Amino acid sequence: MRDFAHEIEQRKQAGLYRTRRLVSGPQQPELIADGKSLLSFCSNDYLGLANHPRNIDALTNALPETGLGGAASHLVCGHHQSHHQLEQRLAAFTQRSAALFFSTGYMANLGVISALAGRGDTIFSDRLNHASIIDGCILSRARARRYAHGDVAALAAMLAETSGHKLVVTDGVFSMDGDVAPLKDLARVCKAHDALLVVDDAHGIGVLGPQGRGSVLAAGLSEDEVPVLIGTLGKAVGTSGAFVAGPAVLMDYLVQKARTYIYTTAMPPALAAATCASLDLIEADDPRRQHLSELIVHFRAGAEQLGYHLMPSQSPIQPILVGGNQETLALSQALEQQGVLVTAIRPPTVPEGQARLRVTLSAVHSFEQVDRLLNALAQSRALLPGSDYQKTVAV
Ligand SMILES: *Cc1c(COP(=O)(O)O)cnc(C)c1O
Repeated sequence: MRDFAHEIEQRKQAGLYRTRRLVSGPQQPELIADGKSLLSFCSNDYLGLANHPRNIDALTNALPETGLGGAASHLVCGHHQSHHQLEQRLAAFTQRSAALFFSTGYMANLGVISALAGRGDTIFSDRLNHASIIDGCILSRARARRYAHGDVAALAAMLAETSGHKLVVTDGVFSMDGDVAPLKDLARVCKAHDALLVVDDAHGIGVLGPQGRGSVLAAGLSEDEVPVLIGTLGKAVGTSGAFVAGPAVLMDYLVQKARTYIYTTAMPPALAAATCASLDLIEADDPRRQHLSELIVHFRAGAEQLGYHLMPSQSPIQPILVGGNQETLALSQALEQQGVLVTAIRPPTVPEGQARLRVTLSAVHSFEQVDRLLNALAQSRALLPGSDYQKTVAV
């Protein structure tokens, strides 16, 4: 039999062993993890809505009306009025004709990509796309080709030499780097080469664009230019689930074909009601996004002054590039000893030799809390010997 224990031991040797922390209490900057109080900079709750009283009230108020469980798939008898209302709300929020509510972003990507591309078709995928997109490509059985990160010219050349149905898929905001895809150029090239563009805006929804409508609307792109817009609801929106938005005919097609929509139980309807409440907050609350962008500027200035390598990101995702796995773990542990939680992100989540601390900021952090992070980083700077650090991260 295959020696699983040995494989785990090898992972430990390579600094790739992964563990889970046990959280108690709600998700918030002051997090109780493994029984310790830590100041957290690693959640995707960018707006602090995961523990917002209005959203919690919306959930508890909906429960007597809807009951708890989803009980059946949407196509059997699980498609509740609350799901329907959320889909209409999501379509309006993203300025699309229609939307479909999925159970998670992972499932949305698997379902959408495998429904829209199949054997004989070609999918073009940014090198740094999320794991769920990569898995969606594999599941589709289409030919998958990766293009260099954000390289629209390389993509255009690949599209030009390919015939048949073409699908281009990209993260809106890249989850481990924080940069935004060149969406306008991608839309133009897709139009020119008759390729269907799919944007997964898991980290843009709620944060970027007018009233938090995401990276696609920040770029001013219509449904015609970006026909398939995917977003998650468990990140900035603070609840759970995901959606796909676009032309009604495409949504109808997905209801027929997306297996991760069809063959799974509908989410608890009360959760859909809570998500509607959260979208109301997002649309109304520019001060929250304003504070967040001030925190981003403050953090970047402080970390760069300390000699840390940041990535070209204007989003709440502010990774500190370290390089080696063990060095990244050591830095993460040094911060934790000072009461600050930033998890180490290692391969295969990021490319080999590009391990990093993925710092994420939230609108519910204070300037004082960001200063605590910067102080902890100042104390730990010695773990990264000057010139070696420069060399390892020269990417
Ligand atoms: C987190 C993430 C997903 C998965 O969304 P879940 O709702 O957490 O399953 C999909 N795509 C990207 C780019 C992500 O960052």
